[in-house]
Amino acid sequence: MSEFCPICGHESVETRSGQFSFEPPENIPGGMIVIENAQWQECSECGEQILPPELLEALDKVRYQRLGLLAPDEIKAIRVRAGLNQTEIAQKLGIGEKTYTRWESGRSIQNRSSDTLIRLFDQNPELFERLDVQRNPQRREQIQNYFHQLCSGAMQQKPCAVAAHGDELSMSDQQQLTECLILLSNIIKVL
Ligand SMILES: [Zn+2]
Repeated sequence: MSEFCPICGHESVETRSGQFSFEPPENIPGGMIVIENAQWQECSECGEQILPPELLEALDKVRYQRLGLLAPDEIKAIRVRAGLNQTEIAQKLGIGEKTYTRWESGRSIQNRSSDTLIRLFDQNPELFERLDVQRNPQRREQIQNYFHQLCSGAMQQKPCAVAAHGDELSMSDQQQLTECLILLSNIIKVL
């Protein structure tokens, strides 16, 4: 059963299956791309090929591999592994959110150095945290001050210092909380 060809108009489009060969553009090294067990539609009159999404994806995957770049689904997997949304990972990488979104959707291809950046982030997300603190030394200071105030407040048994529940705490709970805060503030100091 044939369908009409969108190019030549003949009723001669048929489903083909097997090995699909594709000659990629010159910027993709490695010559002909061959996908095994593929399925597509082809017009026997004019030769027009209509490729289903799965085959297009498989071809894309080979293209990214040959260029030595992460494919869109691999970029997405890295983001999901880090537990970040698109806005957050864009901030970490220091790029625009739209730029990042285009990489993940495959609408544009990241260059080599951006690809390296994403791979580095995947292998060492803590390093990016440390860079954030280096760039913004006030952040560490703010955290230290916050705990210091919380801590000295708790030691003087000021209810406001141990948040809204301070009044309802028993003496022993208050003591435990104070000890926890001192411990925390010491940890923060050495970080
Ligand atoms: Zn045709």
